[in-house]
Amino acid sequence: MTSERFSADTFVVSGGRPAHEHDAPVNPPIILSSTYRGTDTVDTVNDRVYARFANDTWEGMEEVVARLEGATQPGLLFPSGMAAVASVIDLVPVGSVILVPKHAYMASVTMCKDLERRGIAEVVRYDLEDTASVIAALEDAAARTGVTPGTVDYAAPKALIWIESPTNPMLEVGDVPAICAAAKRLGVVSAVDNTFSTPLVQRPLSFGADVVVHSATKFLAGHSDVLLGVSVTSNEALYQAMLHHRITNGAIAGPMEAWLGLRGLRTLAVRVERSMANAQVLAERLGEHPAVVQVRYPGLPTDKGHELAKKQMTGGFGAVLCVVLNTDAAGAQRVVEALKLWTPATSLGGVESLVERRRRHGNEPDSIPESLLRLSVGIENVDDLYDDLVNALKEIA
Ligand code: PLP
Repeated sequence: MTSERFSADTFVVSGGRPAHEHDAPVNPPIILSSTYRGTDTVDTVNDRVYARFANDTWEGMEEVVARLEGATQPGLLFPSGMAAVASVIDLVPVGSVILVPKHAYMASVTMCKDLERRGIAEVVRYDLEDTASVIAALEDAAARTGVTPGTVDYAAPKALIWIESPTNPMLEVGDVPAICAAAKRLGVVSAVDNTFSTPLVQRPLSFGADVVVHSATKFLAGHSDVLLGVSVTSNEALYQAMLHHRITNGAIAGPMEAWLGLRGLRTLAVRVERSMANAQVLAERLGEHPAVVQVRYPGLPTDKGHELAKKQMTGGFGAVLCVVLNTDAAGAQRVVEALKLWTPATSLGGVESLVERRRRHGNEPDSIPESLLRLSVGIENVDDLYDDLVNALKEIA
């Protein structure tokens, strides 16, 4: 694989390719084999042995995402974002505390609550926008689990903070550097779900997070045609624990999906640039629309998270926003159904714009307004996107 140090928008194109040798393929081949030839004693570090342990087809995407996030350990590809999330959350031992934002992707919250139900961990919810209270919660978790910075067991963290910034679906922004620094000072392991931002926008490892996960289903793969996840870290013990988790749980990506993921990743920089530009315009215009009560988008100078976002989302403000409409659940649903260009569907990060009333999911908390629509902005013409929204909003005029 290639190893040159290029800027990120070049490396998404040039990274993870076969060596530059005469007649080598330009793209990595898809390896469809469940096992590998071998007779000697197994070298568990260097031998592939069996396709649950290793597959070359994963490595291109792993190399590119790890490099973009600034990780010094190899990236780990998973068959879904949730499998990547599990590779971190499942590490906590009996008696642990997991700090989880008040608003976060529901399946990640459910995974933590499942651990609580099974008597493994205690889940403490925190308000990401209130840094002082998050630090107090970290101090409390450290005191109750007895962790200290010098004795952290990264393979079995007793205290773990799960961070999403911006949060799904409320688009709240937290002071991630301050939270990660406090976690480090106290011996709490910090994990950031960077799905909404991508490493081109925000690089949590650079401000002290221990591990970063992605639902690569979203922006990284970018075409709503594949489910994948990635986790990356610079901590060797954490990397080994997540690798062990992947192997023993069989949480491996299919070679076809891995190949599609890398193919999609090639255009990440241009897709994200265009989607973010569209999102900024839509957030500004929707903020002026009489049917819209509130827009949350970190790129709006009036947004509560804007100042923090400017400091830590150095590559832009992402391409997801949410709007609260001046109507009830049924009215918001009528708006969604009246859209002709936007696709009403869950998920985000594809080239096509998607919209969803989040409370249609029974497990979203009551603190999410019934009329909140989450918009994942794609790469279409921004005027077409806006006109379609304006037309649909006539449903509640
Ligand atoms: N994290 C976030 C922020 C998400 O939005 C999602 C899915 O929507 C996931 C994780 C889970 O990813 P996947 O659906 O690929 O398992």
